[in-house]
Amino acid sequence: MIEQAFFYRDTWVEVNLDCIVANVSEVRKRLPEEVAIIGVVKANAYGHGDYQVAQAALEAGATMLAVAFMDEALSLRGKGITAPILVLGASRPEDVNIASAENITLTVFEPEWLEQAKEYLDSNATLSLHVKVDTGMGRIGVRSIEELSMVEKSIASDSRLLFDGIFTHFATADELTDSYFHEQLGRFKEMVASLHTRPACIHSSNSAAALRYGEAHFNAVRLGIIMYGLSPSQEIKPELPFQLKEAFSLHSKLTQVKRVNKGEKISYGGTYETAEEEWIGTIPIGYADGWIRKLQGQEVLVNGVRSPIVGRICMDQLMVKLPYEVPVGTVITLIGEQQGSIIPIDEIADTLETINYEVPCLIASRVPRIYKRDGQIIDMKNPLLPKTLG
Ligand SMILES: *Cc1c(COP(=O)(O)O)cnc(C)c1O
Repeated sequence: MIEQAFFYRDTWVEVNLDCIVANVSEVRKRLPEEVAIIGVVKANAYGHGDYQVAQAALEAGATMLAVAFMDEALSLRGKGITAPILVLGASRPEDVNIASAENITLTVFEPEWLEQAKEYLDSNATLSLHVKVDTGMGRIGVRSIEELSMVEKSIASDSRLLFDGIFTHFATADELTDSYFHEQLGRFKEMVASLHTRPACIHSSNSAAALRYGEAHFNAVRLGIIMYGLSPSQEIKPELPFQLKEAFSLHSKLTQVKRVNKGEKISYGGTYETAEEEWIGTIPIGYADGWIRKLQGQEVLVNGVRSPIVGRICMDQLMVKLPYEVPVGTVITLIGEQQGSIIPIDEIADTLETINYEVPCLIASRVPRIYKRDGQIIDMKNPLLPKTLG
């Protein structure tokens, strides 16, 4: 049974950090020793909790962390994480002194950015940089050898700037056809070969590439989705080299249980009408928690029995057709395992017609997170409550 504390509404996410440790360890075992693991903990670690996942990943063998924005890097520093952190996305040149002071590595992909950054950077500060190369993702990155050369020269001309890394990102590493992947990899190798100095850290692989393409390892891989126990895509799921362990689960408790006569309507618009006498339960989670209206009809677990969400999902509550009368307070599992039954994140992604990445990211910060390690609660986070309570 799942314990409860530090929140006053019976809905919570449970993050099993043992799974994060297991997943990272499985990848670590399969990588050559000289290939480092960069744990990608952007977006609050895909909704799981940045600090807790960072700790678990570092414990399991990651030696660097990556986030999307500088705010996320500063969040980790504020929580006491001292490992190297790379900001994968764009940062503003006017913010370079904060990055320098907090030992945060920034991504650079434009010569103009460097010129501005130099003007802002304090004379005695140093700034660690990774250069991003666009080899076919079309998002950010230098796109030609000429541009890369300008960036390299500009960094080399200023002793405050450290050329610590170069990287690219694949658009199709999680697809079964690999021609575009090889095109990108070839382009990246060309760009790296054109450098006058080799930076310490050369990396190109996301989770899918890290598991599937040894030739793209260079000396570091960026692990995101696989750390969380989710497959980078449905297509490559059958070829994954080990059993992934999903860390994220979502639970609530029944706040009302009622017997409803045949022909009664449930929720806004009266879109659901009971076909017979039914047991209907209400749980305190709704679209404002990220359990969006498109999940109407999705099943949840009640004593391990699949039971559909009926009627429209409200902002803060929803109704479930119970398999039989159960008491108020019964735990309802919306994602995860309960009494031998399981609703995996991939099922929710299917219902939402999206990818698994999006599902834990969708679950709002309003939902408290509890963290387990070795079966024990080791941490709880409820951003709604004042620090003294939460
Ligand atoms: C998010 C991200 C990753 C992680 O990708 P996964 O598929 O989750 O492993 C790696 N690199 C970059 C640049 C990213 O933006």
